[in-house]
Amino acid sequence: MGTERSRQEFSNQEPSAKEQAKDEPIWTTEDENAILDTIDKWVGNDVAPIAREYDQEDKYPHQLVEQMKELGLFGATISPDYGGLGLPAATYAKIVTRVSAAWMAPSGIFNSHLIMASAIERCGTDEQKSEWLPAMASGELRGGIALTEPDAGTDLQAIKTRADKNPDGYLLNGTKTWITNSLYGNCLMVLAKTDVNAQPRHKGMSAFICKKDEGYEVSKKLTKLGYRSIDSCELVLDNRQISETALLGGVEGNGLQQVLGGLELGRINVAARGAGIAEGALKMATRYAQQRSTFGKAIAQHQAIQLKLGEMAAKVEASKLLIKDAANRFDQGERCDMEAGMAKYFATETGVYCAQEAMRIFGGYSYSTEYEIERFYRDAMLMCIGEGTNEMQRIIIAKQYIDRNRI
Ligand SMILES: Cc1cc2nc3c(=O)[nH]c(=O)nc-3n(C[C@H](O)[C@H](O)[C@H](O)COP(=O)(O)OP(=O)(O)OC[C@H]3O[C@@H](n4cnc5c(N)ncnc54)[C@H](O)[C@@H]3O)c2cc1C
Repeated sequence: MGTERSRQEFSNQEPSAKEQAKDEPIWTTEDENAILDTIDKWVGNDVAPIAREYDQEDKYPHQLVEQMKELGLFGATISPDYGGLGLPAATYAKIVTRVSAAWMAPSGIFNSHLIMASAIERCGTDEQKSEWLPAMASGELRGGIALTEPDAGTDLQAIKTRADKNPDGYLLNGTKTWITNSLYGNCLMVLAKTDVNAQPRHKGMSAFICKKDEGYEVSKKLTKLGYRSIDSCELVLDNRQISETALLGGVEGNGLQQVLGGLELGRINVAARGAGIAEGALKMATRYAQQRSTFGKAIAQHQAIQLKLGEMAAKVEASKLLIKDAANRFDQGERCDMEAGMAKYFATETGVYCAQEAMRIFGGYSYSTEYEIERFYRDAMLMCIGEGTNEMQRIIIAKQYIDRNRI
């Protein structure tokens, strides 16, 4: 089942008829329901049953990658012009939440990949779009983004990786760290300095789209607290010669804007992962609270536990509403940087909150690796760090809020 077949299976109408009606949304509510139903079945049958074993053994879920290809997930937000599904952000966020409610880690396999694809679709030359996007939509090329370095994460303008121009294109030198999908994927968007003396510094930054072993090489797979199974690696770029055609958009100096331009969608994605963790933890805790008894009744009957479940349930719903609002604005082409930031901040903190509260509800069993709740606890914190830390997120929200409410 390729991408086209997925569209037909997900859709109640013939794609060709839908594409003809240019002013109509390609995907209807019925289509969305069909997509989410398919995702729920896949998560229930194939993702949830392997999560504990693969997480604990830090094994890469190769079989899920093949299933993601079949489902069209590698092309979920890529335009149908390039063989993708062209899903709205609102639908895509619901998919991410459902996967993450069972096991957050696999969502990183298509999430980071789609951030790279979205940068190519927004900023690439026509040649780059036709060369990269169809192969990315099918999952033949699977990528991610290589921004962070050992000495620069939040302050991306401090990166040291260089791309020095020469007659054959560019020579890449530097080190990247924490790069998702770098070992089992086969391409990355790499942020580098094309002019180390430029002022302001971002004017000397450019993005390059590279295939593995051409632009970079993986030096080390990192061991992690959570988000296991998924490859997060250190990369070395040691005199790697890449061609001029690897420069995203074909013009130097736009790299930081090209990367930051995808942040709204990126924040909605991470928010959706946080909401998924939160909802998964809430559901597990709700089930357990009805099974476990103390002092002659189910712990769900104790007010102390009800206070926790009530707070968790309210925060989960609030997270989903914030995500929906940001995603709808994004899909309508409205400005949504503040709304996406609020959704990211609130939903990811809710992920941590719900995972912690669920741990308390599970009591001593929360510490057992025979139960799954400890994985949610280990996975949740990452969402507060990635795609702009939540410290930065609040500062950005405040600046924008002040800006929109100037006296
Ligand atoms: C599992 C995992 C996967 C990842 N995947 C990727 C990936 O695929 N690609 C990629 O490029 N990166 C990836 N990252 C890196 C991630 O994006 C960075 O860790 C993140 O951006 C934070 O950067 P840092 O770790 O350098 O922290 P720092 O920038 O050193 O920040 C440290 C602390 O200082 C705070 N801080 C920094 N500056 C300010 C400021 N101006 N005001 C207030 N507080 C501030 C931060 O909020 C944080 O609390 C991944 C990280 C992890 C752990």
